[in-house]
Amino acid sequence: MPECLFCGIAAGEIPATVVLDGKRVIAFRDVNPQASTHVLVIPRDHYPNVAALASAGDGLLDELITEAHQVAVAEGIADSGYRIVFNTGPGAGQTVGHVHAHVLGGRPMTWPPG
Ligand code: AMP
Repeated sequence: MPECLFCGIAAGEIPATVVLDGKRVIAFRDVNPQASTHVLVIPRDHYPNVAALASAGDGLLDELITEAHQVAVAEGIADSGYRIVFNTGPGAGQTVGHVHAHVLGGRPMTWPPG
């Protein structure tokens, strides 16, 4: 069993409901959805957070965001609107240390979040 939960999902060793299966990026449904659409988009390679992914500087963060939008299109929430969230650090509620974009939509959202 891999040490990192999301590395395990990316490797197909831990089950998940995959909605997008790309060469460098994979997306799957959150097990504890906070909206009718709640998908996590991750790079297959391990980066601890979005700042580390940005520092890699090889276009992977751009690809992750592009794929997050493609998920929103496929889920039918691109026009109504959706939110992309990167929780970064424990104070922000990051519980999995493998960078992941939450794609949330399908319900009205207020700002700031409750
Ligand atoms: P965060 O709290 O921002 O680190 O987000 C981690 C997310 O991963 C949470 O929304 C969890 O519900 C979700 N999660 C944890 N384990 C799994 C899993 N095995 N498959 C899918 N989502 C998961």
